[in-house]
Amino acid sequence: MTGTPLDFDIAVIGAGIAGASVAAELAASRRVVLIEQESQPGYHTTGRSAAVYSPIYGPQPIRALTRASLAFFEQPPEGFADHPLLSPIDAVFVARADQASALDEMLVELVDASTVRRIEAAELYARLPLLRDGYAFGAMWDSGTSEIDVAALHQGYLRCFKAAGGTVLTRAPVAALTRTTTDWQIDTRQGAVTAKIVVNAAGAWADDVGQMAGAERIGLVPKRRTALMIDPPQGCDPSALPLVVDVEEQFYLKPDAGKLLISPANEDPEPPCDVQPDEMDIAICVDRIETAFNVSVRRIENPWAGLRSFVADKCPVAGFSDQAENFYWLAGQGGYGIQSAPGLAKFAAAEVMGQAIPANILAERLDPETIRPGRKGIGA
Ligand SMILES: Cc1cc2nc3c(=O)[nH]c(=O)nc-3n(C[C@H](O)[C@H](O)[C@H](O)COP(=O)(O)OP(=O)(O)OC[C@H]3O[C@@H](n4cnc5c(N)ncnc54)[C@H](O)[C@@H]3O)c2cc1C
Repeated sequence: MTGTPLDFDIAVIGAGIAGASVAAELAASRRVVLIEQESQPGYHTTGRSAAVYSPIYGPQPIRALTRASLAFFEQPPEGFADHPLLSPIDAVFVARADQASALDEMLVELVDASTVRRIEAAELYARLPLLRDGYAFGAMWDSGTSEIDVAALHQGYLRCFKAAGGTVLTRAPVAALTRTTTDWQIDTRQGAVTAKIVVNAAGAWADDVGQMAGAERIGLVPKRRTALMIDPPQGCDPSALPLVVDVEEQFYLKPDAGKLLISPANEDPEPPCDVQPDEMDIAICVDRIETAFNVSVRRIENPWAGLRSFVADKCPVAGFSDQAENFYWLAGQGGYGIQSAPGLAKFAAAEVMGQAIPANILAERLDPETIRPGRKGIGA
């Protein structure tokens, strides 16, 4: 791009699931540019998730947004995807004897969830013989979990965005944001664009982008999480397994295309970067999995890591900045940004367009004040 900057109503920075989904919602009625620093949208956290939809996982606002996302997952717009976005899978949260109180606390916290129930060791071992004898004391079984086809969801949003006339700029890291009297000028390596409103969906880099705009700091901390694939033990059919999560989230194991996806569920602070798996994470993961299951890890396949970015209260950050005019935050989705994306995109798009928050989202008991950028308890 050279010459006069292209002019848009809205510029969305970051083409992961957050940026792609809100851009698609906005493009139906606004001129929108989606700006991505990498050559491919989805290269960072969105392309590195465990693909779980769990309406009982995460803090209260996330659970509300995840429930509000279900209708979209189950019935996306015509032509969005050529197969279902969700595939049901049971989930079990396993506790050792020394974790009994953590199991009790989880069951109290989720007392309203109709899909969960406590199970004792005998039933647990009958359903999950892969658990090592004597390891587990009890568990919570959940029948409300699904696997998400993340690539289909992300690509569906990008396709809708382009079909509605949206412009995608890739290899275009935003380097400066300048406020003119009426607009933002957004300088990228591909040239400059102008827009009335900027949406900051820059994932782990969201605080950096906020600083470019003179917005408040939200105190975002990207945290590395590592995952890897292993072969199932001989004779074990992975497709018959549930998702198994330690009740204190010290590990999880998920069947995945004939293999087992395992993770130490680590949360190690990192600066925003193209994060790589750490050898110590892998060793800890293997140790925890071999301790809990009748599994002996012989070969590690395809280890990877991604950044889950949190503010202090672990709730997402969505709302206009108190300090930078027409600058909208859409960040801090942590470990729940895929499952909550459809609901959060509709919430954010309504606000960016100056419309009322959709009633179905409020009906899920989302209090918008709990996700505002200026709320107490988050920040520098
Ligand atoms: C191992 C792992 C497992 C997970 N499992 C789940 C799960 O099971 N379920 C779930 O719901 N969530 C899960 N998550 C979390 C989920 O992946 C994230 O919440 C979600 O992907 C965040 O999306 P995003 O669009 O905010 O970030 P990203 O996908 O990182 O997108 C942000 C984009 O902004 C771009 N960008 C940054 N700065 C600039 C700039 N200056 N100019 C232009 N572009 C810029 C980046 O290149 C990037 O593409 C998991 C995450 C990890 C790492």
